[in-house]
Amino acid sequence: MKDTQDLRTILSRIDGRGYRAYRDLEGSFNFHRFTLSIDHVQGDPFAAPSRLRLRIPLEETVLTDDLFSSGTRRVALQDFLIRRIDDAITRVTKGKRGSGKSGVMHIDSGGQEVIERTAARVTSRWVEARIYLGMPAAGRRVLARQAEAMLCREVPQIVEESLLSRDFPLTAAHDFVDSIENQEYIRTRLTDLGLVAFVADCSILPRESGRSQRPLAAGTAVPFASPPAFRVSLALPHPLPGTEGETTVITGMGVPAGVTLIVGGGYHGKSTLLQALQRGVYPHIPGDGREYVVTCRGAVKIRAEEGRSIEQVDISPFISTLPHGLETRDFSTDNASGSTSQAANIVEALEMGAQALLLDEDTSATNFMVRDKRMQHMVAKRFEPITPFVDRVREIYETFGVSTILVMGGCGDYFDVADTVIAMCDYLPRDATTEARDIATRYPTDRTRESEPCLSWRLGRVPRAGSFDPSRGKRDVDIDARGVDQILFGRETIDMRGIEQLVDASQTRAIGTAIHRAATQIMDGRKSLREVLDAIDTCLDEEGLDILNPFHRPERHPGGFARPRIYEIAAAVNRLRRVRIRGLSRD
Ligand code: ADP
Ligand code: MG
Repeated sequence: MKDTQDLRTILSRIDGRGYRAYRDLEGSFNFHRFTLSIDHVQGDPFAAPSRLRLRIPLEETVLTDDLFSSGTRRVALQDFLIRRIDDAITRVTKGKRGSGKSGVMHIDSGGQEVIERTAARVTSRWVEARIYLGMPAAGRRVLARQAEAMLCREVPQIVEESLLSRDFPLTAAHDFVDSIENQEYIRTRLTDLGLVAFVADCSILPRESGRSQRPLAAGTAVPFASPPAFRVSLALPHPLPGTEGETTVITGMGVPAGVTLIVGGGYHGKSTLLQALQRGVYPHIPGDGREYVVTCRGAVKIRAEEGRSIEQVDISPFISTLPHGLETRDFSTDNASGSTSQAANIVEALEMGAQALLLDEDTSATNFMVRDKRMQHMVAKRFEPITPFVDRVREIYETFGVSTILVMGGCGDYFDVADTVIAMCDYLPRDATTEARDIATRYPTDRTRESEPCLSWRLGRVPRAGSFDPSRGKRDVDIDARGVDQILFGRETIDMRGIEQLVDASQTRAIGTAIHRAATQIMDGRKSLREVLDAIDTCLDEEGLDILNPFHRPERHPGGFARPRIYEIAAAVNRLRRVRIRGLSRD
């Protein structure tokens, strides 16, 4: 293998030449305690940065096997290391050094959530970090001295500081990995405990601002405290931090399966609680404040999403024949209304096997949620296609075992259908279940229930493989993400703004390529969307996320991917405007 001296020799040879001469660097270099592989060199200084891997033999580090002895622990350790490398890059690099992306260096690290990602991999033999680096240029000429500083000085210093240093914080690494394992342990226990979510006492739920996912400062935030009626204690596999290794028992509020309402005055913290539950499908970094807010993996946020497209979804349980006799058993539109979009979102979530639905009045269509007595008189049922959610929410639980957690401050009609009522007051919850029942008895709504149980929920649409086209211009496969909210899939842009549980742009990127893989390798015109995406999920479990890059080769930088849930992949498929999915009417 080549070594650093070879690297220096190549650099001095190409100094001042056209940018493409950097291609001569492609290959692996032995750096004494690690190997640097330059897998892909960018075509010019303004293109996406070059892709490099740093592979460190495990015996050069102080890491021990128990830090990655299970899938959860491995993902957690990788995440811990990625964050350390990210910090070291910030400390060591000097920022821009010339034109275009000259001198940038970064690693794809996550936000507050800990999600499996391709930026690092730990095996029993080595640790590998996959980084991006902008090869320095003056105009379009090679700047060899700067490149040498980056590759031969900064990169080794980053590896040294983040992974090799004698004061590597092994205790912090253990605490991090143990915390993630504790969180996942709680998730595995929810079902036996009859719960869909758990919110630990002392959690900090509010965020710094609408634009930041960091916790609101401790002095300002009211820590969570569970009401006695919903209090649950659990023994965890690892001690909780700050307890000197003494306490492994965690206490908090269990949200029971069934229909749960979160009520309370405006600004008393209802939506904040729901948002914490939404993100509780992922583990969080210690110190997030919500690391012990744990929601069942299959909880899906449902909202109104005017303007989305819908393809062949049976929304008739909620919306029957529309004006002009438009049928809704295989409903398609390019421009859904608030209520039709919310109905489709629910049917699609059920179709994917969601375990719980999370709804907030703030993001719901009013006419989808309620229809009171007076309106029943004003608009006769035969002129109102909508069966409001209040008349279906119990049936969804009884038929599918799918729970609902619903924030509702504006309408008491839901008291009749709730199993549990949590009232938020001054950011603290109390049990208001009995009170809500009493009120419901004392003040009947007098509204007429508008539906017979819908005997035929028709789920299980089948996507047509041939209708997924990732090509654009000269490229057969052109898939990328723009931020968290947009997937570029061939010539189409999928709008994911309504998908609130998508939290990382690398998940968004992964969804695009996961769809492509599903369309080319799994769809066969018979498998339902759920079967197809379950198969993709199994494939990611078995083969890892690296395979999401359609051009991936072993021993190459796979690109920046983070693991999406099947619900978010389905959401993207369901919003692709060119895709054709077979409805179920003609069975
Ligand atoms: P609601 O949905 O009940 O109207 P929100 O959840 O939107 O209320 O909360 C209103 C405001 O209160 C938000 O700015 C939120 O950040 C803040 N907030 C929520 N929970 C807490 C808390 N535990 N401590 C301090 N501030 C909070
Ligand atoms: Mg609110």
